[in-house]
This record gives sequence, C-alpha cells and structure tokens, in this order.
Amino acid sequence: MAKYVFVTGGVTSSLGKGIIAASLAKLLQARGFKVTIQKFDPYINVDPGTLNPYEHGECYVTEDGAETDLDLGHYERFLNIPTSQANNVTTGRIYQSVIEKERKGDYLGKTVQVVPHITNEIKRRVQLLGQNGDYDIIITELGGTVGDIESLPYLEALRQLRWELGRDNCIVLHLTLIPYLNAAKELKTKPTQHSVKELLKTGIQPDILVCRCERPITQAIRRKLALFCNVEIAAVIQSIDAETIYDVPLLMQEENLDSTVIAKLRLIEKRDPKLDKWENFLKRFKNPDSEVTIGLVGKYNELQDAYKSIYESFIHAGAVNRCKVKVKPIHSEAITAENAAEHLSGFDGILVAPGFGERGIEGKLHAAKYARESGLPYFGICLGMQCAVIEFARNVLNLENAHSTEMEEQAQNPVIAMMEEQKKIKNMGGTMRLGSYPCDLKENSLVHQAYREAKITERHRHRYEFNNKYLEQFEEAGMIPTGFNPDTGLVEAVEVKGHPWFVGVQFHPELKSTVENPHPLFVAFLKASMDYRDK
Ligand code: GLN
Repeated sequence: MAKYVFVTGGVTSSLGKGIIAASLAKLLQARGFKVTIQKFDPYINVDPGTLNPYEHGECYVTEDGAETDLDLGHYERFLNIPTSQANNVTTGRIYQSVIEKERKGDYLGKTVQVVPHITNEIKRRVQLLGQNGDYDIIITELGGTVGDIESLPYLEALRQLRWELGRDNCIVLHLTLIPYLNAAKELKTKPTQHSVKELLKTGIQPDILVCRCERPITQAIRRKLALFCNVEIAAVIQSIDAETIYDVPLLMQEENLDSTVIAKLRLIEKRDPKLDKWENFLKRFKNPDSEVTIGLVGKYNELQDAYKSIYESFIHAGAVNRCKVKVKPIHSEAITAENAAEHLSGFDGILVAPGFGERGIEGKLHAAKYARESGLPYFGICLGMQCAVIEFARNVLNLENAHSTEMEEQAQNPVIAMMEEQKKIKNMGGTMRLGSYPCDLKENSLVHQAYREAKITERHRHRYEFNNKYLEQFEEAGMIPTGFNPDTGLVEAVEVKGHPWFVGVQFHPELKSTVENPHPLFVAFLKASMDYRDK
C-alpha cells in the first residue's frame, strides 16, 4: 500500500510548496523509494490550459497531453520521471466529475453536497495514483493557503483520509514563513502559530513544520515552534532562502527532512541517499568556465514564470557546457525593423518563445529575420518556429501576405495553417494538439546531430501547423524541414541551410529537460551560442 504525505501552506502564498514537495520526493527517491507527486489546485478552471500565463505562469504539458500547473514541471525536473493527467487535479475537475455523475443518476436521488460527495471525489482522486502498487510514497501538494475558503473541502478530505488510513500512513507537512523583523532584530513565530491554529480548526494537526526563513532559526525558536504548534522539535525543519532551487534537496537533507518523514510513516530505511548525479550537476552549475548571453524574445516577459521551463532548461544545459547562461528577456513588441540590430546584436543567441495571438508577432518576425541574416544562433519554439517560417516566406520566398491563419484568417499565403481536424473544435480547453508525438529526424541535420538519434518523441501544445503545400518551395530556397511526424507528415522542425545554428521546432523541448537529462537541443543551442560568442 502506498503511503501519503500532504503538503499544505500557511501564512502566505508563494513559499515554494512545489519545490519542498519536489525536494522531499527527490531525497526519498534517492533512498530507493518509488515516489510521485501530485498537485490539487483549488480553482474552478478544469485545467490551467485556458489561463493566461499572466494569471498562473506557464501551462505545463505532460506526456499524455494534460495541461497542468507549472509545479508539475518541477516534479519532473527533480524526479526525472514523467507525470500524467492524474498528477494535477483542480476543483473544476472535481466538480465536473461529480456533476457528470449526478446527471447520469449515479447518486440515486440523493442530495449532492460538498460533504460527502465533493470530499469523496477528492479522496478518490488523491488515491488514484496509489492503486496499482507503482509507488511507495505519494506526495500531494494542496494549492492555496490554509484559511482560504476554497481550500476547505480539500482539508476536510485530508482529515478524513488520515482517519481512514491511519496516521502512520498519512502525514501532513505544513510549510510556513518565519519572518525576520528588522526593527526588532528578531525572527517571529506568531504567524506560524496562527496558521497552525487555522489548520487545527479543520481537525488537522501537522506532523512536520517546514519553516521558510531568510535567517537561520535558532534552537530556541525551534523549541518555541515545537511547543506552541504541538510538533516534535526534530520535526521543525528550517528552509532557509537558497541560492538556487536545486540546492533545496541538499538543504532538506541536512535538516533530516527525509529521515523524519520515513520515521513518521514507519517505513524501513532502504539505503543512504544516492545523489551523486545531482551533486555533480550542482558543482558544474556553480563553477562555470564561461558565460553566454541569450535573448529570450517573448511577450509575457514581466513574469518569469510564464517561461519557467525554458529558464530551467537553460540552467540544465548550461551545467553540461560548464557555462553560465544569462537569459535576458526582450519584449517582442519593442522590436521593429529599424531597431532589431540594436536590440539583438549584443546577444550570443536568441530564443523566440512560444505564444498565442497577434500581439508581439511583428517583433518576433523582425528578430527571426535579423538572426537569419546575421548568423546569430536562433532557437524558435512552437510560435517561434512558426515565426521563422512566416519570415522566410515573406522575405526569401517573397510570398505576398504570408502569415499564420491564427493571426490572419484570410492570409493570401497561409504558410502556417490549421489542420482540418482542429477546425471542427469549438471548445477552448484541451483542444490543441497536446502531448507526446513521434518525430523522425533527417540525417546530418542540426537536430539529428543534437539528439544523436533519428527517432524521437516530443510534447506539443498548439493548433496551427506548417502548411505542407509550401514544403518544396521552402526546401528549394534553403529552409529545410528536418523533422517530420511519421504518421501524419506534419513538419516538426525546420533549419536554415548555411546558417551556423538556426532551428525552429513545433514541439516544446523545454518540457522534457531535467537535471539528470538536460535537453539535447538546449545543449546544442548553447554550444552554438558559445561558438558565436568566441568568433
Ligand atoms: N499559437 C500557436 C499555435 O497555436 C503556437 C502555440 C505555441 O507556441 N505553444 O499553433
């Protein structure tokens, strides 16, 4: 039977529950346990696929095509194992299934209520991943902050589950903040005491407190927290601000978070943690030999979380190349034909980001043109590839009014267009080409050299595609399609002949980069950028 660890948050949001959950999971995995993490989000959207990146950061896509919270990206990057639809559940999805059951008459005339119907559905979903014996431990992160109205059904479900499974099988880790008051020169425990009281109101006594702090918490503070929050002193864990999120597993290990969890769940220690790959990555990451500067051309630049996986992929790939990667956001709306050189000439490479809609498109096209003409390494992801194609059509093939039908439905030359099957779909959620698809790579292409494989799979999230009607024209003029979906013939990658490194991909490589498996395209792009810098 799987054992359960719940991670709740108190005092404020943004304390990094996802990173704590992922770090704990990493440590348990390093000790030989089979672990997975899931996230329950208390909002009413059925999934974050319909959310603007400004609202909720990047939408992370799993192998099976689920549009999920960006914390799942952290889980995969830390654990190096894929997640799935079952790893992210929202209130919307819970209600959706309860209402569907109600309409089918499954409740046999009963009044359908938050307790027990919603809470039962939460409990069922929590235990879904634990059913087949695939995991020893399932960590469940509850989104939101204790005290929020929308968290209540989750906390009630958790309370019940703990009663049903027993406290040796189900523990609660509460993440809180210990602020430092400069005026008093003191760390303050009161917000945490209140937050634990709030949790107690729902009938849940936390087993472990993880305390986010800017300064080390003293033994006296640990004692005070333990006494007033009713936990063991050893279960008060300090989580001090780290230089990088990738330090957190090691910091948690120093605090014995993993052995505390193992003891509380009455598990038998398997082995000492094996973290050599992780430590090796950290060593490389922290001791770079050189530096490159990459321009990230996008329109959601105000919010780093909108491109979370891209930033993290650069960290992984930088460590491989022993190179510090400075990623500077460039607002696509600010780039014009006249100022493109001025904006972009200082970079060693540019990545044109994924995106939706008209805003900022022209800037992305100017960026693609500048990179293509100047020999600056170019990496276009999804919309970034589509822009490279449109730019090439306009300026090399001289196709009048070449565009994507996403931006201009009646474009004279729809070089990027919607596939017939997609046209029929009217709903917004979950209707794109989503999840993992195979791709065959052309021999001797840049992508083939990067992957060192001819058959790959990558994740997708888009509606529009390269229009194969124009395939030959592009190829003849020097934009070479180098990746194809073997089943549908859809173009998945393009390159510009004669350019040192100009690659556009329709898929999202950033979703598959992990600490232990940095993505080959990011590694190759950085290498090309380092070469460009050295010239
Ligand atoms: N908007 C484009 C499409 O739907 C690209 C999507 C993306 O960049 N993820 O095809």
